[in-house]
Amino acid sequence: MEVVNGKYTASGINLIEISNQFGAPVYVYDGNKIIEQYNRLINAFKPLNIKVKYACKALNNSSILKLLKQHGSGLDTVSINEVLLGLRAGFDPKEIIFTPNCVSIEEIQEAVKLGVHINIDNISILEQFGHLYGNTIPCCIRINPHILAGGNTKISTGHIDSKFGISVYQLRHVARVVKSSNIRVNGLHMHTGSDILDPGVFLQGAEILFDAAKDFLDLEFVDFGSGFKVGYKEDDITTDIEELAAALSQRFQEFCKEYGKDLELWFEPGKFLVSESGYFLVKVNVLKQTTATVFVGVDSGMNHLIRPMLYDSYHSIINLSNPEGKQRIYTVVGYICETDTFGWDRKLSEVHEGDILCFKNAGAYGFTMSSNYNARFKPAEVLIWNNQAHIIRKRETFEDLLQNEIDIAL
Ligand SMILES: *Cc1c(COP(=O)(O)O)cnc(C)c1O
Repeated sequence: MEVVNGKYTASGINLIEISNQFGAPVYVYDGNKIIEQYNRLINAFKPLNIKVKYACKALNNSSILKLLKQHGSGLDTVSINEVLLGLRAGFDPKEIIFTPNCVSIEEIQEAVKLGVHINIDNISILEQFGHLYGNTIPCCIRINPHILAGGNTKISTGHIDSKFGISVYQLRHVARVVKSSNIRVNGLHMHTGSDILDPGVFLQGAEILFDAAKDFLDLEFVDFGSGFKVGYKEDDITTDIEELAAALSQRFQEFCKEYGKDLELWFEPGKFLVSESGYFLVKVNVLKQTTATVFVGVDSGMNHLIRPMLYDSYHSIINLSNPEGKQRIYTVVGYICETDTFGWDRKLSEVHEGDILCFKNAGAYGFTMSSNYNARFKPAEVLIWNNQAHIIRKRETFEDLLQNEIDIAL
């Protein structure tokens, strides 16, 4: 986002014009930023055989999927419907990995039929997979290395109490199951959760995976999941991709030599690719002075952007309508009948009713987590690409709310 001639713009497009044209609330994604992030990752790891599998639960609009596919990305999916979205967007099944947690064996069978990579994260499913397919269909195994990334147990998935992955201490059991059914394990995977700040922690996890790899002779890839942290505030520490790449590359090459084969190195970034590309634009409905603060009430809430309430995540807020106004302190809240506070004590250029506010870092886990709570419509989505703002999802209408309801005689 840049200020050009006193106007907030993304890739040259005036953001406030987008809300004028398509209305608010609206999610806006800057395609150039997504591709810039994708290329940054690819370039950092260039000497290696790297494959990026975009974790599409972060943002799964088909236009975004197609854009990433066009630039060479694969896909990481966590439900059969995400697999179907990926196939519909043109991904080859071999470019898609299915990494679900606690789904039924039937859902995994469906994914096998569709020809995508299967990532298994519990021993019961591994056993059933072995009975069904023996060595005819390969699978990847998700290992939980028990590393606490970042310290936030709401988003970290690699710690001891996590429901994700098969514990590294159960590898002996895994080996028994694999041997009994002659399962062909073609990949090892770990995803320790978000917010890895220290390449050292990442490497610790990598060592655990390299160590485990010795017992699996048919590997074709090692998948390090994600964990890349992006900045939400000006001075936030973020994952230094280039530093991480430098450290991991050397070690990975050594490992491949020891293993005796050039394995593919996979990553599954979600947030890293799309978070910063996203701007969520909302309109100010009312200002409400109380004894404690001045509330800015906007035409949105936890139904559209739940991350601040669910994860205490911080999203910078900017008043697009008054770029040069004097700074005042506000508490920004939603219109939902819950305490849906977007941010306390935020400094914004003086706010008036009718102004358009912009939430930054709204590309990941924004729209995909939205709901119809309070019988509100989901917002529209717009993609900036080729110097134009394209609507890529229209706003819902009243009919959408009733689509699956069935009226009965009462
Ligand atoms: C959610 C998820 C990711 C992406 O995580 P980000 O923090 O958005 O980068 C990657 N892999 C798996 C298995 C996931 O569940």
